[in-house]
Amino acid sequence: MIIRLLVVSFLMCSFTTIGQSFTRQDSLRGSITLERAWWDLTHYDLQVEVDLDIKTIQGVNTISYTVLEANSKMQIDLQPPMKIEKVIQDGKEVSYTSEGNAHFIQFKKEQQKGSKQKVIVYFSGKPPAAKNAPWDGGFTWSKDSNGKHFVATSNQGIGASLWWPNKDHYYDEPENGIDFAITIPNGLMAVANGRLQNKETKKDKTTWSWKVVNPINNYGVNINIGDYVHFGEKYEGEQDTLDMDYYVLRENEAKAKIQFKQAPKMMEAFEHWFGPYPFYEDSFKLVEVPYLGMEHQSSITYGNQYMNGYLGRDLSGTGWGLKFDFIIIHEAGHEWFANNITHIDVADMWIHEGFTAYSENLYLDYHFGKKASSEYVVGTRKIIQNDRPIIGDYEVNKEGSSDMYYKGANILHTLRQLIEDDEKWREILRGLNKDFYHQTISSNQLEEYISKKTGINLIEFWNQYLRTVQIPKVEYKITKNQLSFRYVSIIENFDMPVIAIINGKEEWIFPTSEWKTKEFANEIKSIKIKEDFYVESEMISK
Ligand SMILES: [Zn+2]
Repeated sequence: MIIRLLVVSFLMCSFTTIGQSFTRQDSLRGSITLERAWWDLTHYDLQVEVDLDIKTIQGVNTISYTVLEANSKMQIDLQPPMKIEKVIQDGKEVSYTSEGNAHFIQFKKEQQKGSKQKVIVYFSGKPPAAKNAPWDGGFTWSKDSNGKHFVATSNQGIGASLWWPNKDHYYDEPENGIDFAITIPNGLMAVANGRLQNKETKKDKTTWSWKVVNPINNYGVNINIGDYVHFGEKYEGEQDTLDMDYYVLRENEAKAKIQFKQAPKMMEAFEHWFGPYPFYEDSFKLVEVPYLGMEHQSSITYGNQYMNGYLGRDLSGTGWGLKFDFIIIHEAGHEWFANNITHIDVADMWIHEGFTAYSENLYLDYHFGKKASSEYVVGTRKIIQNDRPIIGDYEVNKEGSSDMYYKGANILHTLRQLIEDDEKWREILRGLNKDFYHQTISSNQLEEYISKKTGINLIEFWNQYLRTVQIPKVEYKITKNQLSFRYVSIIENFDMPVIAIINGKEEWIFPTSEWKTKEFANEIKSIKIKEDFYVESEMISK
């Protein structure tokens, strides 16, 4: 997802989680309930017919799974006003009970451990229209300038169960992917994730079939409908030849052919930093939509109006943010961090947004150099609010502060300084994508991985930056050639070294909560903490 810029002040004044209580619905959605834990998703087969005029859908989802532990009660999620019509297994209707968004299917007998099963869920209804996609998601029912339907789904946060029945939790992805059959009126095209398999017209309707063979997170599943034209290219990538395909409104084809030249440049930069694109089998796509954009796996949705920056704005205020199309770069960065490596709980969403906000710097770094990257990330500090910790509440579907984006990026940029070896840092970023390939993980796993690979004890570093809103502050005093310094605003045992630029020369200093004094050969005439480190500093006396 992209950071929601326009509501920052609203969030600051009216949003608080102090004393927030969570409901049973939050737990049913956000935790691995008993009714979820016993079965392992292997595949979805999702058929949907969309009525564009009355804005309803009806469909069937065939859910394939392996039984991990014998059980007979299964949780499936589908949010009202969408309705389950019936549930079928082995040709027979099965009963279920409903509790809000959660539905509990009661099989006639226990399912045998190790067996492979299918359950077919029929559903229909009028899915919520998105109030402000992609943040307040749902269906965006729009029209293009020729008056033709232009429709797209987006549902990060609120969940895929907004419009189709599934196991709506991040921990389990269907390892064999998803098949789509989307039926719409003739004259328009439906684009989903993965590769186009087939199109079949019967009377006035056409069914568009798409296929994803890799594991996919639910929120990444999307359908888009419009008067699309297609163009594409072959990209010689690290792993293979990659199909890069673009679906845009007919009226925007010429603009897209220019703007989307950034897509292969993105692929080149990210394969360098993060390793091979994680979904060669499913291809890479950019698909135009009537909202800003979203990281839908292998079909990145695009609505940045063919401008550089974030709708023409530079988030960093340095000018570097206008060197790239924010949506192409940011949303595609999520193919590595969100789609390849997915958080197991939305409380750890910084794994998606921190690394992806950081991918913006790495794109700049690759094409414009290290100084550009550094200036950009430092520039984005003005967006950081330090209102709440980056890590949210576990098991209740509750994400942390929106600081997960640019505080997240600044944490990673600071870490790069500590490692002092860009090649090693690149190997770690690539290692994450290789060792956690197609996995759902926790922030703890990621933190431990990086500590191990860097050989630096990062326990306090992570706890300070991810779990508090305190920014470490270096206080210092100068007496001729002596520098005294200490940290304030830190957790116990936080002792991250920083580089001080003293009389124009870089010197590592090692502050702790206690005052320390370091002597230099010459009188100290100027000092500042190198701004690549995300710390505050203050001279408290001369
Ligand atoms: Zn994002």
